[in-house]
Amino acid sequence: MLSRAVGNLRNPHMSEPRKKILVVDDSALMRRMIRRELETGGYEVFEAEDGIAALARAVELLPDLITLDVDMPRLDGFTASQKLAGDNYTKRFTHAPNNRIPIIFITANDTLEGRQKGFELGAVDFVSKPFVEGDIRRAVDQIFIPKKNLDGFAALVVDDNTVARTITADLLGRAGLAVIACENGAEACAVLSDPDKKIDLLVTDLVMPVMDGRRLCRKVRGEFGLADLPVIFLTAVDDQPLLISLFDAGATDYLAKPYVKEELLARVGVHLEHRRLTRELRSAIDALQQANEEIRRMSTIDILTRCYNRAYLNDSLESEIRKARRYGRELSLIMCDIDHFKPINDTWGHQAGDEALHAVAATIMGLVRERVDWVARYGGEEFIIVLPETGCEGAAILAERLRAGVSSAAIRAGSATISLTASFGVTGFNDMTGDEHVSFDNLIKRLDDLLYQAKQAGRNCIRVGALQ
Ligand code: GH3
Ligand code: MG
Ligand code: MG
Repeated sequence: MLSRAVGNLRNPHMSEPRKKILVVDDSALMRRMIRRELETGGYEVFEAEDGIAALARAVELLPDLITLDVDMPRLDGFTASQKLAGDNYTKRFTHAPNNRIPIIFITANDTLEGRQKGFELGAVDFVSKPFVEGDIRRAVDQIFIPKKNLDGFAALVVDDNTVARTITADLLGRAGLAVIACENGAEACAVLSDPDKKIDLLVTDLVMPVMDGRRLCRKVRGEFGLADLPVIFLTAVDDQPLLISLFDAGATDYLAKPYVKEELLARVGVHLEHRRLTRELRSAIDALQQANEEIRRMSTIDILTRCYNRAYLNDSLESEIRKARRYGRELSLIMCDIDHFKPINDTWGHQAGDEALHAVAATIMGLVRERVDWVARYGGEEFIIVLPETGCEGAAILAERLRAGVSSAAIRAGSATISLTASFGVTGFNDMTGDEHVSFDNLIKRLDDLLYQAKQAGRNCIRVGALQ
């Protein structure tokens, strides 16, 4: 009575109906021990004393899980589970996943061969006798209250054997992984090449028809370029050179079949944690690279006008000159200085002057060829426009367009809308220009001269001249 009350309190399924467990064992003492443990865990427990009784009770009760002793009179556990896997029974077990009631074998003779056989017959777990208190309850809890510690990852399970595939898929599913199961390497390739399916782990059998695990693994590393995808082989093959060759093919790990499920989960956990850390590291590096790129870009931009700054001009004009010379191409420059700008500040204030400067820069940038020509702020209200692969004539046409554009623009300066003009100097070189004339300093000096001439000529005009 007490244990029942405690059991209800500790029912892990909360408002869900209690899970029905059929406990099959020929020993009444053993049945009582298991019953007590499971009732404490909140399960509803029924009993059967051998395989024959178990089959009848399973059909009558439709339990959610069966604990099955292996050695029993009349009908042993393995034979009983074989029968339960037959069509006669599965068609009645529509309440169970894949129409198979999960079975936990409880055996005094726990061997790998026994487990292999058991798993093939639908075992979800094994508990060996003598068990200590808590063992059975833990095994059952694990089926119904999955730990989900691998939540958010997706696994691809590849095995041609339906039972082996289902066991592994169920195990990983219960641990929280989203699982896709395939029968062979070719099917797995189709999944891996589907961009909508993001796979974090590949668990594959070795020997399979159509495409075996080793070829699949080679494709994963080669064709698909998935260098970071953990690939775990599950294989009954016990041949050292062959196992080593799996690593040559790109395997991350392998487990001998029949594997111990705790070991598979532990290894999967390690590989996925590694994958998670690698991913985090990679995205941190990406973010850092982006931030660096942004800082680099910002360090080349003039904050007020959004054109390139003087530092960028110094670096990049040199390389534009070198490039043009190397390929025998033309390069022209325009220097622009706003006319009578000082009175703007004096009249409207420095803040309004800033706004006007920004507006003139925007007008200029809006008139040059995007991504080819570029504009830098050379000084206070002076700009240099760099025109790769452009001769002086073309540059003069653009300068005239800039002059007209600036003089006709309505420039916002604080509360006022004003008109401004600017003066322009234009020069450049082509493959006929002598090397002695072509230098950064000489280009700037020539632009200064021509700009001065434009100012002298009354401003709001352009002056064009060859390099001297
Ligand atoms: P000119 O036609 O001969 O070029 O006359 P100007 O007044 O434009 O030339 P000057 O070189 O005498 O004065 C340039 C002025 O540009 C000085 C300064 O008040 C203004 N200026 C330079 N940089 C900035 C800036 O960043 N913001 C503001 N608001 N004004 C600036
Ligand atoms: Mg000026
Ligand atoms: Mg000036």
